[in-house]
Amino acid sequence: MVKIIAIDGPSGAGKSSVARALAEKLGYLHVDSGALYRIYTWQALERGIDTTSPDAIAEFAKSVEIECAPEAGRIAYRVNGYEPKNEIREPRINAHTSEIAREKAVRDRVSALLRELVKFGNLVVEGRDITTAVFPETPARFYLTASAEARAARRAKQDAASGIKSGTEANVKASLLARDAIDSTRKYAPLTKADGVLEIDSTNLTFDETFRAAYDALPQDWRMGEL
Ligand code: C5P
Repeated sequence: MVKIIAIDGPSGAGKSSVARALAEKLGYLHVDSGALYRIYTWQALERGIDTTSPDAIAEFAKSVEIECAPEAGRIAYRVNGYEPKNEIREPRINAHTSEIAREKAVRDRVSALLRELVKFGNLVVEGRDITTAVFPETPARFYLTASAEARAARRAKQDAASGIKSGTEANVKASLLARDAIDSTRKYAPLTKADGVLEIDSTNLTFDETFRAAYDALPQDWRMGEL
């Protein structure tokens, strides 16, 4: 039976760092589901699709092919053999991803892609609807959150380290909150903490403490000893 660790939460809550660390510790593959919605958005903008038109997005969604392959402990995504990096993390993508991600046509395609990844083995999957819609049956489900201030500060620091020009911390916070608002109120698979999902608020926790909180809550036979 393939093991799935599912982690949801708002933007900048630290999901990627925790997901990557769990994947590395346990030898699972790290799956960044947000990158798939970002790739759809990047393709839509490159092709001049009206991201506010549900019909245009539904038609466009059928034409996007994303290749998924395990690579160095994670699932890498390519479009026509090209792996996008910073171009899917730019402010213009942040500004439109939630519009694309609220459309059912896109969600259905991304969810199907994610479910197919079990063929590659055990996974740590992070996103907004992994615990509620994509892999709701898994025994390891987490909702990672933090205050808006802490999330904006972390995201601004990450962007600066990756050379992404996202503006001031206030700009980053506004962008995060705008996305959270759409993500948590949309009709299909909104971001929400479901019953039975362990919430970890990392506002006042170090990375190690956050990691430990998740690790210690895994089913015992999934853990590789104590930390
Ligand atoms: O995780 P990340 O910030 O890269 O996600 C970008 C956007 O993709 C989110 O704001 C959300 O609109 C969408 N998303 C989603 N469902 C997921 C993962 C991401 O709707 N499972």
